[in-house]
Amino acid sequence: MKLGPHVIRQSGAAMAWSRVAPTVKALDSTEPLSIARPDAVRVFRRYFRGQPTTTADAQRVAAEIIVALGGYYHHKLYVEIYNELGRDEIRASLDFFRTVTHILQIVGYKVALPCWATGNFEAEDWDLLRSLNWLGADCIALHAYWNRNGLTEWNALRYRKYWRLNDPPILITECGRDRVRDGDFGSYIGAEGWKLDGVSREAYLAEARAFDCEISKDSYVIGAHWFTIGEDDRWRFYGLDDMAVGEFAGPGPVIPARRGIVTGYPDAAWRPSANYGYPITGARGRLGHEIVFLVDHIAQGYESGVSSWFATSGGVSAHYLVCRDGRIIQYVDEKDAAYGCGITNRPDLANPFIADAMRNAVNMNLLGINIEHEGYSGVSMPEAQFQATLRLHADICKRYSLPINKDRIFGHNKLDSVSRANDPGTAFPWDRLFAGLLPQPVNAVDDALNGIAHFGTQARAAGKSGDIAAMNRHLDSLWVEVVQLKQSIGK
Ligand SMILES: [Zn+2]
Repeated sequence: MKLGPHVIRQSGAAMAWSRVAPTVKALDSTEPLSIARPDAVRVFRRYFRGQPTTTADAQRVAAEIIVALGGYYHHKLYVEIYNELGRDEIRASLDFFRTVTHILQIVGYKVALPCWATGNFEAEDWDLLRSLNWLGADCIALHAYWNRNGLTEWNALRYRKYWRLNDPPILITECGRDRVRDGDFGSYIGAEGWKLDGVSREAYLAEARAFDCEISKDSYVIGAHWFTIGEDDRWRFYGLDDMAVGEFAGPGPVIPARRGIVTGYPDAAWRPSANYGYPITGARGRLGHEIVFLVDHIAQGYESGVSSWFATSGGVSAHYLVCRDGRIIQYVDEKDAAYGCGITNRPDLANPFIADAMRNAVNMNLLGINIEHEGYSGVSMPEAQFQATLRLHADICKRYSLPINKDRIFGHNKLDSVSRANDPGTAFPWDRLFAGLLPQPVNAVDDALNGIAHFGTQARAAGKSGDIAAMNRHLDSLWVEVVQLKQSIGK
C-alpha cells in the first residue's frame, strides 16, 4: 500500500486516515503530519497564492516555508516547494528552485521537486533536470491524475516512460480522477472532480485500489496522495471525506479500539490494569488533585513483562508504556492515580515542586502521570520510541497545560534517589525531549534567513557593478548569517 491522504483541512475523516496511512500530505498545517504513524512518509506544502517563480525572491520563499513549518521536523518529511507547474514555468525557474532547495536542505529538510502537472513533461525535461542533478532535490515530485478512460501511460503512469535507474525516487504528490488528456494531441477528457464525472463511490475506490496496485509495482515510487480529504468548497467535487479510505491504511502498527470511555492518549492501545486509585481501597480518581507533573521510568524489561507485571493485582502500574517500536499502551485512565512513583526516598528537594509536595505530604501518584519505557537503563532508545514518547509527552503537556521544564517533567530517580537512582538512567534523551517539546526559535530562524536574503542582494549588486571588495564583504556577512541560522536550528 502506497496511497495516503492529501489533507486540505483537518476534518475528522482527514485526521482518522492520517493516523493510519503509509504516507500523509498536508497543506499549510503540520497537525496531520504530527499524528501520522512513526514510519509514515510525510509531505508538507506551504500554500502560496499565485506562486511567483522567475520573479520571486528565493530566500524569502524558503524563509516562509520554514516559518510555516514552525520547527516541525521528521526524518521522513519532504517539503514540496510549489504546487503543480507546467514544463515551461519550471525551465524558466531553475535557479529559483535550486536556491530554495539549498536553503531548505541547510535547515535539514528533504525537498520534493519539480512538481510537474499530470503528463506535462517530456523526455527532454527529464534529461535537462538529470543533467542538473535534479537541482539537488531528494525526490521527484509530480502529479498523476487519470480520467474516465482509466490509468494510461499518457496520464497517471507517464512517469514509467522516463524514470531511469539513478534518478531520485518519485513522490506522486497528487492523484485521482480529474479532467486530463490522453496523448500529446489528445483533448481533455472528463469532469473536474469524480463526483461530477458520474462515478460511484465504490467504483472510485476500485480505481484508487488499481492505482495503488500499479504504483506498488514500482519500487522507486515512495507514495501517492489521493486528492482530497478535508476538502473545502473549492474542491467539493473531489472530496473523499465520505469514503471508506481507511482500507488504504497498509500494514502499519495495529491500534486496538479503546474499551469504554477512557481519558488518555488517542493513539494508545488500551490494556487496563486494576492497580490504580487512592487510597488502596480502589477508590477512583485523584482525591480532587489536578495533574501537574510527569514522571518518566525505564522498565528494565520488555512489553510482555511489563504487561503481566501491571496485570498482577495488588501490584504496580503506570499510565503508559512506550514500546521500542513506537507503540504506546495505556494501562490506567488518566483520571486515576497509577501506582508508579512508589516510596519517596531522599527526593530531590532542590526541585521546588517536589519540595512543596513533600512539605504538604501529598502522595505523588495523585499529582502525576507515569510513563514507562520499554528497554534497559543506560541503553539508548530507538528513534521510533523517542518520536512516540515525544508525541505522548507533547499531548499530555498540551491537554493539562503543564509547564515544560525540569521541575515538572523528570525521572523516577528524582523521587527516589536511593533504590531508583538509574530510573530512567543516563541514556534517557532529556535534551532532545525538551528540545522537541519547547517551541522552536522561529524568530531567530526568520531573522537569519532575512539576513541571508539581504546580504545576498547586496553581494549580487556589488558584483554586477564590479566592486569585488564590497561583494566579498557582503558574502562574509551572508556567511555569518548562515552560521547563525545553523546554530538557531541546532545543526
Ligand atoms: Zn520507575
